[in-house]
Amino acid sequence: KVQVTNLIKNFGNNQVLKDINVTVQANEVVVIIGPSGSGKSTFLRTLNRLETPTSGSIVIDGVDIAEPHANLNQVRENIGMVFQHFNLFKNLSVAQNIMLAPQELQNKSTEQAQEQAQHLLTTVGLADKLNASVQSLSGGQQQRVAIARALAMNPDIMLFDEPTSALDPEMVGDVLAVMKKLAQQGMTMIVVTHEMGFAKEVADRVLFFDQGQILEEGTPTAIFDHPQNPRLQEFLDKVL
Ligand code: ATP
Ligand code: MG
Repeated sequence: KVQVTNLIKNFGNNQVLKDINVTVQANEVVVIIGPSGSGKSTFLRTLNRLETPTSGSIVIDGVDIAEPHANLNQVRENIGMVFQHFNLFKNLSVAQNIMLAPQELQNKSTEQAQEQAQHLLTTVGLADKLNASVQSLSGGQQQRVAIARALAMNPDIMLFDEPTSALDPEMVGDVLAVMKKLAQQGMTMIVVTHEMGFAKEVADRVLFFDQGQILEEGTPTAIFDHPQNPRLQEFLDKVL
């Protein structure tokens, strides 16, 4: 469970997150939508402390990770993140990418790490790519490796920041299918996406961010079929 209370993030004089309050339950899938610059990425980045919150608390499984003395390694081991640009190590193989963190941070043996990597690759539909070079993979395949790499640390929560928006259209479905499977397996997920079909189908709850605030939240049906706030209506008119 993630409990965010009075979260504020300033960059200089620019208040990018203005008093965010939200609770994400275990096994819940929350999708964040909203215009460019509304603070979606900044919000995700504060959740694993890639950004330091200016004030407020972020309690994850009983630990306030917004505190200055929070154990950041532990935070990041617990929370997997997948970005728009996959950030794989291009000079390493697929296997090495996935095995690196479990070997370095969890002291897994090569054998254990490799067995796990093979299992995870099967999960993301890339069973035959263990020894492939990253460069030889398509964007969609690389993104699925990035998901496998994040899962290798057995995170309790997965954060996705527009994981499909840099992909060619024909690759998008494969990545969304992997995310949907994860959701069905009960992973707690917070997903920033412009894929409204995914939001409707997979989200338990949708948050609409605008100018650093959550202007509206609700079930996919409430948000997409019965939007209340005029700014949300305007946003949906543009993207749907
Ligand atoms: P997009 O849909 O384009 O990805 P977003 O909702 O993810 O937008 P953010 O990237 O969180 O928006 O940015 C919100 C605001 O914070 C923007 O005004 C941006 O310029 C500002 N910002 C983000 N990161 C930094 C930074 N490191 N330093 C200064 N300002 C930043
Ligand atoms: Mg963003």
